[in-house]
Amino acid sequence: MTLKRLEMHGFKSFAKRAVFDFSAPVTSIVGPNGSGKSNVVEAIRFVLGEQSTKSMRSKTGADLIFKGSKQIGKMSRAMVAITFDNSKRIFSLPSVDDQNLSLDFDEITISREVFADGANKYTLNGNDVRLKDIHELIASVNIGSSGHHIISQGEADRLLNSKPAERREMLEESLGLKLYHYRIKEGERKLEKTREHVREAESIRRELAPHIKFLKKQVEKIEKAREIEIALVSAYEKYLVEEQSAIARKQFASEKEKKNLETDLLMVEDRMAHIAESSAVDSVSHLETEIARVRSEIRNLARNRDDIGRQIGRVEGMIEAAKMATKPGKVGVSTVSLLDIENLADEFEALAKNGGFDLHQAIAKLRAYITDKKGSPAEPIQVDTSEFESSKSELETQIAEIDHKTGALEQQIKTIEIQVAESRKLSQDSERTKYELSAKRNEIASRIAILVNEESHVAERIENLKSEYVQAEALVGSGILDLKSRFVNHDVEINESAIRQNHHEIERMKIRLEDMGGGGSGDVLAEHDETVSRDAFLEREINDLYSAIATLESTIKELKEKLQGEFKTGIVKINREFETFFKLMFGGGEAKLAVVDIEKRKRKASTDETDEEVAEDIEEDEQEKEQGIDIDVSLPRKKVKDLEMLSGGERSLTSIALLFALSQVNPPPFLVLDETDAALDEANSQKYGDMIENLARQTQLVVVTHNRETMSRANILYGVTLGSDDASTLLSIKFEEAVKVAK
Ligand code: ATP
Repeated sequence: MTLKRLEMHGFKSFAKRAVFDFSAPVTSIVGPNGSGKSNVVEAIRFVLGEQSTKSMRSKTGADLIFKGSKQIGKMSRAMVAITFDNSKRIFSLPSVDDQNLSLDFDEITISREVFADGANKYTLNGNDVRLKDIHELIASVNIGSSGHHIISQGEADRLLNSKPAERREMLEESLGLKLYHYRIKEGERKLEKTREHVREAESIRRELAPHIKFLKKQVEKIEKAREIEIALVSAYEKYLVEEQSAIARKQFASEKEKKNLETDLLMVEDRMAHIAESSAVDSVSHLETEIARVRSEIRNLARNRDDIGRQIGRVEGMIEAAKMATKPGKVGVSTVSLLDIENLADEFEALAKNGGFDLHQAIAKLRAYITDKKGSPAEPIQVDTSEFESSKSELETQIAEIDHKTGALEQQIKTIEIQVAESRKLSQDSERTKYELSAKRNEIASRIAILVNEESHVAERIENLKSEYVQAEALVGSGILDLKSRFVNHDVEINESAIRQNHHEIERMKIRLEDMGGGGSGDVLAEHDETVSRDAFLEREINDLYSAIATLESTIKELKEKLQGEFKTGIVKINREFETFFKLMFGGGEAKLAVVDIEKRKRKASTDETDEEVAEDIEEDEQEKEQGIDIDVSLPRKKVKDLEMLSGGERSLTSIALLFALSQVNPPPFLVLDETDAALDEANSQKYGDMIENLARQTQLVVVTHNRETMSRANILYGVTLGSDDASTLLSIKFEEAVKVAK
């Protein structure tokens, strides 16, 4: 026996604790109308996780709690517990991996409580579990939530009334295929979740893609910038060293040259000053003055000589006159008068020379002289000539002296003239030298000016170099500053144009670096690496997810195929049993289940056709669910084919035949039948009773009945009565009592 016990407390009319012991194959519950028998059936539905309160004839979960009577107060919760035998370990929870949920017990007790607020609580052997776990647990022993094994009152023909799709569901459940559905559902849920993850990951990747593209470009830029930086460093190394060498060289050379030039300038100026001092022009004019002086001296000497010559003439005249005076005649007169005339002429000449010559005065003088001469007698005079002779020779000596002097002076002039010529030549030379020196001085001065100008250029270059260092430090780091102390090699050939070229190159690189917009490169690289590895991770994850999807899809496919296959073979088996039971019930005829395709129209119409994707999804979904079960019957001696045309009793019998067929193929642990026999006549009740006995060999039966025949087949009878306190009471009774109680 699988079903062992049912305990209820506070459930519907069962205010007091009631325990049913189902230790026999057939247990019958009997009692008057309204005593609470159906409440027992509903208690079984309830504890097995029924979610439809309607199927338990209630509006809300709270309606299931004993609502109180005059004697017994309203209760706050309803509890039902059902206990199964698990000594054969028939229960399993395939998709529950909760290690705490052990099913390794001889008994399995499921309990459910509902509270006034409608909340539910489920336990499995005292452990809290979820409703889902209960569903899976009972599915593992072929009892399902569709309740095919619990036929409620008035539902005897439920299988006939159901729609083809519902029938299929019930059949699947009875065939124990519900577990496949759970697993398929679980698989599909996982599949959907996995697809969702893929969508999320792919969307993140899509979002990342342009960012990665951007970052890649940035990284390329940074790498390019690094290359430029490296090139810049070596260009700087070359440029800065060469520039500072060039500057040093320039400074050194310029200072040296300037010093030399300054010395040269001093020398030139000194020489110029010296030339100015010993001016040859001065000496020439001095010599020329000397010549003039000597010439005037010569002229004076010549005049003296003339005077002396005249005096000699007079003396000679005197001598001549003296000689004449010694003889008679006129000789004396003429001689004296000529001498006097000559004296007179000398006097005139002297007057004229002194500027005081006056013709009247001269004439007067001449007349006075003549008068004077006329008065004196021309008598011969006795004269001594020796005195004249000595005067004459003295005068001649004087002339000789003068001649000698003059000769000496003329010689002196000649000498001076030679000096003048020399001096003049000398002066010309010195002029030339002076000119040359001046040119030299100008040349030196202008060279110095050039050097000074160059020095200011060098100073400018030094300033530029300083600022270049500042920029270089900012661009390539402070290491570059080490170059400042780099030894300057003066022997190296300095190529200014190469330096300029290099500097130009540096400027170009700086501009390119600036264009690339340096700064924050570390952040960009880190972000790039992070993003790329995140993208790679996502890619791997997507691949993993796709392979998980493939696995899930094939698992689901397998499960579906298995379900389909087992369903088909199940239907064949059921049909065999159905036929047998049907023939037994109706004494002939035929009955079978047919797998049919359910019409799509209705569902399709309800689909929003504008949303194609959704429509496709649903269509696919539909196709799987589109199989249903039809029941074809043909009664003996009747041409009834349509189920609708059967009588109430016939419907019940057909339904019962099918129910029993199901139970035969895949026996559920128990079957609860609430007045399924209500519509049967005596003959059929007999057959029904036989079948119950038959069925009970494999399946435990709990039958609620008013039927005496049915009661007679039960091993245990429970009587349910409604006490004066309006609460159901349970009593175990004998058959005879049961018959009485039932009435
Ligand atoms: P019949 O033989 O006519 O089918 P039955 O024995 O199956 O009758 P039930 O339908 O099980 O009787 O019981 C109905 C009784 O249970 C009613 O009297 C109803 O008032 C009572 N009942 C239902 N719900 C509650 C509740 N929440 N609290 C108290 N009593 C309740």
